[in-house]
Amino acid sequence: MAGLCAAARARELGADPVVIEKGDRPGGSMLLSSCVVWRYETFEDFRRECPGGDERLQRAVFDGFDEALEWLVSLGPEVVWEETPNPLTTGKRFEPRSLTDALVRAAGELRLSEALPREAEPPLVVATGGFAVRYAREHRLLVRCNPWSEGDGLDFARQRGAEVAGDLDEFYGRAMPAPPATITEADYVRLSQLWDGEARFVNEDGDEFFPGPPAWHESDLAQAIARQPGGTAWFVVSSDYRDDPRVEALRGAGGTIVEEFGELSLHVAAAVTHTQGGIRVDEQAGVTGVDGLFAAGADVGGISTGGYSSGLAAALVLGRVAAESALR
Ligand SMILES: Cc1cc2nc3c(=O)[nH]c(=O)nc-3n(C[C@H](O)[C@H](O)[C@H](O)COP(=O)(O)OP(=O)(O)OC[C@H]3O[C@@H](n4cnc5c(N)ncnc54)[C@H](O)[C@@H]3O)c2cc1C
Repeated sequence: MAGLCAAARARELGADPVVIEKGDRPGGSMLLSSCVVWRYETFEDFRRECPGGDERLQRAVFDGFDEALEWLVSLGPEVVWEETPNPLTTGKRFEPRSLTDALVRAAGELRLSEALPREAEPPLVVATGGFAVRYAREHRLLVRCNPWSEGDGLDFARQRGAEVAGDLDEFYGRAMPAPPATITEADYVRLSQLWDGEARFVNEDGDEFFPGPPAWHESDLAQAIARQPGGTAWFVVSSDYRDDPRVEALRGAGGTIVEEFGELSLHVAAAVTHTQGGIRVDEQAGVTGVDGLFAAGADVGGISTGGYSSGLAAALVLGRVAAESALR
């Protein structure tokens, strides 16, 4: 998303950008997402929910959000929700295909199946979506994002002297049905196992590893599962949930469910959607210490450290800011 937003904004400002996309289709993880673009209602909420994040970057995303969202709507995508149902947040939900199409129209020249060149003339905006795929591979976790975000932007920036911000070991993710369940990209939203306080969380050794209910976004739980043996766990709920859509979804995907003593045990695995650590940038999306290089979206580290905030909002706002800075 961030790359398309940067190009669309650059074009609007009179430039002639080129989007280089490694995948064979545009839209990255945005196309697979629930597509709720949001911010916290107040900046204080943002700070409380993501206490380890860089306050200047959080300010930039928060302050730039409303104008950026209006701009996104002006590109003509289908809006599915005019407001979020979560009282902590405000924003809109888009239809992902229509949002992708609108951004592609606005972005101009797009080259598919081409990777970020090793040598590129500045100014350049890197927006490769972080390194979720590499992280999942190295830690034997499931991937829950586009298949191309392997850390190319981070490597590119670091080779040129960029610093890292945030925690490279922190990710945003979900509990998903564990293998042998089969999960396709189209199922990433539907098969998410979100049980809030309704489940007990037990690891493969039979130990309850996660005390209280998870945070509202449940990414803390996904990360705790990732640290358990095998990166898997069992969600134990009452058998009364036998026909619950979450149980049916897991069953339908071929996942494992054990029923005994009036309880269902659902076998889940941690899945990585995007990494939270990444390239250090300033409020203008400039990569610290590297002239002519900018970064946006999940390539940027340190926005949501210690919690979760909208990855789409960060991509939207910093993508636009990166284009404006690059043209300056
Ligand atoms: C199932 C699911 C649900 C989600 N729901 C939400 C939600 O409701 N709200 C929210 O805020 N966030 C949500 N997200 C997260 C959101 O999609 C991401 O935070 C967001 O897409 C990040 O934007 P980005 O531009 O950094 O990355 P992406 O949108 O993934 O774009 C990165 C692009 O870079 C390309 N790329 C990678 N390497 C290279 C290279 N070397 N050269 C060229 N191109 C490259 C990739 O192919 C991809 O197209 C969800 C994600 C998923 C998967």
